[in-house]
Amino acid sequence: KLNNELQELRGNIRVFCRLRPQLKEELGELSNIQIEDFDDESGTQDMNIRRDTKSHTFTFDRIFGEHESNKDVFDEISQLIQSSLDGYNVCIFAFGQTGSGKTYTMLNPKDGIIPATLNHIFLWVEKLKGLGWSYEITGQFVEIYNENLKDLLKDQEGENDETNDSAKLEVRHDAGTCTTTLVNATTCRFTNREMVNEILTRALKTRSTAATKVNSRSSRSHSVFIIKLLGYNSKSGEHSMGTLNLVDLAGSERIDSSQPQAVRLRETQNINRSLSCLGDVIHALGAKDAVKRHIPFRNSKLTYLLQYSLVGDSKTLMFVNVSPALKSLSETLNSLRFAAKVN
Ligand code: ADP
Ligand code: MG
Repeated sequence: KLNNELQELRGNIRVFCRLRPQLKEELGELSNIQIEDFDDESGTQDMNIRRDTKSHTFTFDRIFGEHESNKDVFDEISQLIQSSLDGYNVCIFAFGQTGSGKTYTMLNPKDGIIPATLNHIFLWVEKLKGLGWSYEITGQFVEIYNENLKDLLKDQEGENDETNDSAKLEVRHDAGTCTTTLVNATTCRFTNREMVNEILTRALKTRSTAATKVNSRSSRSHSVFIIKLLGYNSKSGEHSMGTLNLVDLAGSERIDSSQPQAVRLRETQNINRSLSCLGDVIHALGAKDAVKRHIPFRNSKLTYLLQYSLVGDSKTLMFVNVSPALKSLSETLNSLRFAAKVN
């Protein structure tokens, strides 16, 4: 109840920050980052960063420090996940430079948001059975690279790259029912918890195979895990339809010197465009009605795909992942500025 009131107060967009711990192999210096206590009155938390003589303050709905685990993160979002079983559309994004902890947060096989979400859903589907509910749970996992969609659940034998896909993936919107179908994408029907690991392993393998072909491609593409939950209550005759979109975004860093110039330019332009488009869309969603009428969903594949999951009473959460390393400081400030603009 309190959660719902807070949600109403703040609107349906929340931004969380996550500062990852220093890694063993990082011997460099640390940035001067301070996380303030949670302020009950405003329901927000501040982060202060000092660079040279200047101090920068950023405000978030919640900040996870280096000692907070994936479990701590999930505890905070389980309500949000749960609402998809009630028929809400939910989008969760991980934003940040490469190496800041996006994949660890979203996809860590043990306790990342995607595996934990599926576990949580199975647990609740069992509990809700007693109330007459049964659910059909399906999943799709796609990648958006250079504005092209690729199916991460499809067997990849004999296929070289996205241009060789036998059947092109296509986003189809139904304006009448406000639903999106991803035509030609492999759809898995989750019937038990054990399937989850198998399917994620398959997807991650496809992702890393592609990554060796184009150097570190997984950090230049958006990975989108789409879970659809169709509920039916045999006692009351009620239906529900919820969607969860769990997105590991492309690295937000501005240039990558390890890539040949031409590839780098095209990739960087596409990434910059789609990330700034996502920022514009989320910002517009949180704005007044006049702005809301002109939301630029069509400006990128990602926002186009997620269009119906972002509007209406949908719930959106963005994680801004940052590194504590001093050498990453300017990218860290960049990520935090992006987040501040979105909110
Ligand atoms: P990204 O996906 O943003 O490029 P990764 O998730 O791959 O970044 O994280 C970079 C490295 O940091 C990985 O080795 C990962 O295991 C580690 N890491 C990230 N976040 C955490 C965390 N909260 N706790 C422990 N290790 C982390
Ligand atoms: Mg990653």
